[in-house]
Amino acid sequence: MSSEHSERRAAGSVGAVESPASGLPKRGPQNRLCRAAGAAAPSGGSEPHAVGSVGARLLLGCIADDFTGATDLANNLVRAGMRVLQTIGVPDAPLDREVDAVVVALKSRTIAPEAAVRQSLQALAWLQAQGSRQIYFKYCSTFDSTAQGNIGPVTEALMDALANVEGGDFTIATPAFPDNQRTVFKGHLFVGDVLLSESGMQNHPLTPMTDANLIRVLQAQCRRQVGLIDYRVVAQGEAAIRARIAELRAQGIGIAVVDALSNDDLLRLGPALKEMALLTAGSGVAIGLPANFGLAPSSIASALPAPTGWQAVLSGSCSLATNRQVQAFIASSRPALALDPLRMAEQLAAGVDVAAEALAWATPLLAGGPLLIYSSADAEAVKSVQARLGAAEAGTMVERVLAAIARVLVERGVRQLVVAGGETSGACVQALHITQMQIGPQIDPGVPWCHAQSDAAGQGGLHLTLKSGNFGGDDFFSKAFAVLP
Ligand code: ADP
Repeated sequence: MSSEHSERRAAGSVGAVESPASGLPKRGPQNRLCRAAGAAAPSGGSEPHAVGSVGARLLLGCIADDFTGATDLANNLVRAGMRVLQTIGVPDAPLDREVDAVVVALKSRTIAPEAAVRQSLQALAWLQAQGSRQIYFKYCSTFDSTAQGNIGPVTEALMDALANVEGGDFTIATPAFPDNQRTVFKGHLFVGDVLLSESGMQNHPLTPMTDANLIRVLQAQCRRQVGLIDYRVVAQGEAAIRARIAELRAQGIGIAVVDALSNDDLLRLGPALKEMALLTAGSGVAIGLPANFGLAPSSIASALPAPTGWQAVLSGSCSLATNRQVQAFIASSRPALALDPLRMAEQLAAGVDVAAEALAWATPLLAGGPLLIYSSADAEAVKSVQARLGAAEAGTMVERVLAAIARVLVERGVRQLVVAGGETSGACVQALHITQMQIGPQIDPGVPWCHAQSDAAGQGGLHLTLKSGNFGGDDFFSKAFAVLP
């Protein structure tokens, strides 16, 4: 534990007792969340840690309903001063390092509500066993859900599990993320200048959002009554927000949608949430939370081990932003290899090892600096590939090839890896057997560098960044390597 880190903690942090030995808060009676009555034991059967163990220091335990959403939340927490670990799924072992927050990434957004509830409760039990003082359920900033859920059912299951915990009888719900053009006004969600229901999200294939009134949307998914803390209350700050929460509680309301029009609103909201056992939100609310634990923005929060090894970019995203990034990288005269899915399909059918061919191209070039291997293509080209191969088949085939390339590149010494594409990232992380990522400095909004252990990388692990399609500026692929010292 560095002394710099302990200095980041302001005096008088919430219910935290400074441990003279570590500078980190000890878990004490004020750790209200530790194994709530009725909460199930985590799957590994681990018990809560004793005071002073590593797991005892966890301040915030987060459950995210998808992978890139988890990284987005982790990134906001790091920028506000927390050291954050993201796990892929619920870990089967106790936390083995000092961090302030853990974000457990699930893939529960569009699965059956019962399965989403089960996985979320498993994550809750694990986080409680690590001593989490507060739980944060993170969902999409466009409130992606169906009439059945999963935001409502998961929220209520978490509330039920926390029912006997102080501050567990009431929670908030707000997807507001003004930095990303998501604002909530009188309970209605706006995406940029238009209502959610006119933003294109009304046509989403899995979670069509046809109503921008979040109170109505959430109420349809919940037994508990849903109320509103409106922008006028939020504008008045902590005391007014607390008074409004007391009023809603007295009316028997269990969940309040909260208006937020700006980051200032989110920062005003933060202190009023200090004693709440459970928060539910997009990633925006996170910016106001680390201060509740006496933490302030600091480069220590995003510190990662020193980077080593070769540098490579793998891109399977076909989004507009990624296509621009590919073109910018090529224009910078760095080596780039295009993979053509139609040729790939023919080669695979003929028993050719497509990954080996790409690796034979890449290996002698690695010493010369970053290189790019990409299948990214414009919408027309993608359409014609999909017409020939089928959309799902083409997607899976390309993901498998890129993931196989990622694994061997790392085995051959790449230790700084950029992956573009949400599904592509998932495939690469799986091929590298990565289960945890320490979150580091932001490259562009929503996209940080991470450090992870992988059996392909040996002892020192590797740095990687997982960019979801539309994130990042045109120079992202070059900028990424410049951000790592
Ligand atoms: P994004 O984050 O931009 O949505 P993803 O990786 O999640 O990117 O999804 C892109 C999908 O498109 C992946 O399944 C990938 O394998 C597939 N794909 C990549 N290149 C092509 C291509 N040239 N033609 C068709 N599908 C492609």
